[in-house]
This record gives sequence, C-alpha cells and structure tokens, in this order.
Amino acid sequence: MSATVHVLHPPSSAIGAFLRVGHTGFRKLEALLAANRLPIRRVVFDAAHIGEQVDLLKALRSRGYETVLDPNCAEMATSARFDSAVGNLPWGNSDRPWTPQDFSQARNLDTAKALADFAVSYGVDAVLAPTHLIESTPSPWLAVDLKLSEALRRELDRSGGKNVAIDYQLITTNAVLKDPTNTDLFVSELQHLPIDNIWLRSSGFGASATGTATRAFIEAAQRFHQANRPLVADFAGGFSGIAAAALGAIAGLSSGVGQKENFRSGDWKKPQAKGGGSAKRIYIPELDRYFKEDQLERFFETKGARARFGCNDQSCCPHGIEDMIDKPHVHFITQRSRQIENLSSIPESRRGEHFLLHHLDPAIRSARQGAKLKIADDEISKVVSDAKKRLILLRDPLSDVHANSGSKSRSRALRFRGSPQKTNKATG
Ligand SMILES: [Zn+2]
Repeated sequence: MSATVHVLHPPSSAIGAFLRVGHTGFRKLEALLAANRLPIRRVVFDAAHIGEQVDLLKALRSRGYETVLDPNCAEMATSARFDSAVGNLPWGNSDRPWTPQDFSQARNLDTAKALADFAVSYGVDAVLAPTHLIESTPSPWLAVDLKLSEALRRELDRSGGKNVAIDYQLITTNAVLKDPTNTDLFVSELQHLPIDNIWLRSSGFGASATGTATRAFIEAAQRFHQANRPLVADFAGGFSGIAAAALGAIAGLSSGVGQKENFRSGDWKKPQAKGGGSAKRIYIPELDRYFKEDQLERFFETKGARARFGCNDQSCCPHGIEDMIDKPHVHFITQRSRQIENLSSIPESRRGEHFLLHHLDPAIRSARQGAKLKIADDEISKVVSDAKKRLILLRDPLSDVHANSGSKSRSRALRFRGSPQKTNKATG
C-alpha cells in the first residue's frame, strides 16, 4: 500500500478522459469493468437511458469511478428529439419541444428540482447543467440556462446533493465560438456560476474536424481560460481532440466508444435513424479514422495492409486483427487511453511538440505508406487517401498554433471526483 500515496496524487496536468455510455454497448462496458480493463475513469450517462444501466452505474461507483449525468435537456428543445426517450424524463415533455418561454418566471416548470432529485437518487458525482443549443447570438437560451444552473445548485444543496458537482455544458457551434465577442460574453457569464468545469460541445469540431476547424476550436478554447475553469471538449476525439489537449487548450476529452466523437447540431433537426445504430466501427489509430467491418476486411486483403495497420499491441489485441474485429470497443478504449497516457507522461511545456513529432508525424508517415499500397477496392483506396490528406492538412495549422502557444495560457487541470482510493487498483 505504500505506493498508494503517489497514485492518490497524480500529476495535476494529466489529460482527463470521459467515456459517454450512450444508449447501446453498456453491457460490453460492464464486461470490461469486470475484467479490470476499463482505464478511462470518468463515465457519462444519458439521463434518458440511465434507468436500464444501473448495474453498470453501481459497478462503477463501487470501484470509485467518477460518474456524470447528462440531463439531455438540449434534445428536449429540438423538433426531432423531444419525443424520443428524453420526453419521458420527469423534466421532459413528449407533446412538444420546450421553448425559452416555458422557463419564464410565470411558468410552473421545475426542471432544477426534478433534475436534482433524479441526480441524488442515482448517486452520481456530477451533473451537466441543464443547457440548450446556442446556434446564434444573442440567444434567449443563454439567460435561461444560467438561471437553471444556479437553481440546480440550490436544489442539489437542498435535496442532499451538496457533494454533487455541476459542470456547465455549452452546446454550440464552431461558427459561434469563432467570434471573440461571443466567447467574451460566455466567459463573463460563466465565470460566476457555481460550477467545476466548462464543457464545450461544438458542432463543426470533433474527431473528423479539418485542420482549420481544429485550429478555430483551439483558439476559442484558449479564450475560455479567462473563466478560470478546467475545459472539457465534448463529442471530441481523434487527433483533433488530442491535439487540443496536448496544446493545453483543454484539460480533457469526452466521447463514446466509436461514436459521439463529432457533434452535428443539424442532426437534431432530422428524424433519428431507426435500428442498426450500432454497426461495428473499428479504429485505426494511424489513419485516425474508423472502418466498418467489411471495409476493414477489404482493406486487409491488400498486401502489406495487415502488417502496417493491424493491431500488434499484444496487451490490447492478443490475437491481432481477429480481436480488433471481434472486440472493437476494447481496441478503441485501449488505444485511446494509451495516446492520452503517453501525452500525460510528458511535461506540459513539451507536450505539444511531443504530439506533433511522436503522434501526428508517425501517423502521417503510415498514412502515406498506406496510400501507396496497391488497394484493389476503389472505395477503400479513397478512404485511405482521404485519411492521409486530412492528416497532412492537420499538420500545418497545428504546428502554427504550437509555435504561437508558448505565451498562451493552459487550461486548468481537472479534479478527479470519483473515489481515487478505490480506482487506483483498476487504473494502475
Ligand atoms: Zn488493439
């Protein structure tokens, strides 16, 4: 037990990762947890689905993982999602989408109270504030969301949830964040709220973001440092998200397993795709993209592809490609944790450079090699060549941000809100 002290106080600058459970796949996470193979220690539940996921929630809590509740309020105010599972929550409405007017003083809607009671009953460590999509400014939602966040704090304190933290979830677009007038406004409004962290969920940023969009997001996040709160990029991942963390723009990332790595606000205006929502997607770190199972099989028919792009990490996929395909969630979670652990082990001042030289550059070299392979299938050939182009186009904007970020502030680091004495065994 003598080493415990060190584990209890990890370097303050470690990059944090949150895993979004989403709707499907929670049984697989339960199995991973039971096998002690879930190194991502912060887990986010959607309120709309947590009821059927209590076994996972309990198992995580008993092992000291940090648990976070997303109240799914933003979906309740959208024309294509209000009557999905979110409509059945105590603060939802399956008859019509909520509007800002519904939250005026004259109305009797007690979202904060209902949400506080719900969070306390599930025993989560933190709740994302009940916020809504801000697609342009000024937005009537901002004032509503600020008031709801304060009310939520009061209600949590009143209903036995004093220890439940609130993170503010700013759900918006890269276009809104690009304008410093908007970010200044957000900073001035958010800095006084009773919150731990600020989450940025930005449509237009995410795992498949271009170099330009990644740069815009990083620069916007840097302006949020004025609010003096740790920042989390939500619905983010891939080299774009990891770069933002390595360069110190954000303190942590949140995504699902092979999903919820990109947020598109436009999706909330379209009917939800029915059925077959969880087709296997297999992550290839060197190309920073996912392949569907049949795509990967076609790719691996190419001479040289297996050797270069198959997982040869024995502790991740002991049976190589078969494991990648059979257990893509294990492969993804392991590879993502390795990327984050590797960067976290590098002092902050050298982390940006380390990312460029030891993560991005080797990936670009691999992608170039991949594009040179004689891929018979035209679709796969294009997938690989597009992945290569995207990685190359990430390099210049990111080196430029890196060159200019020496004098820039870094996001404050995240505090771990689970029970570290319980998780240190699980995470090593
Ligand atoms: Zn693997």
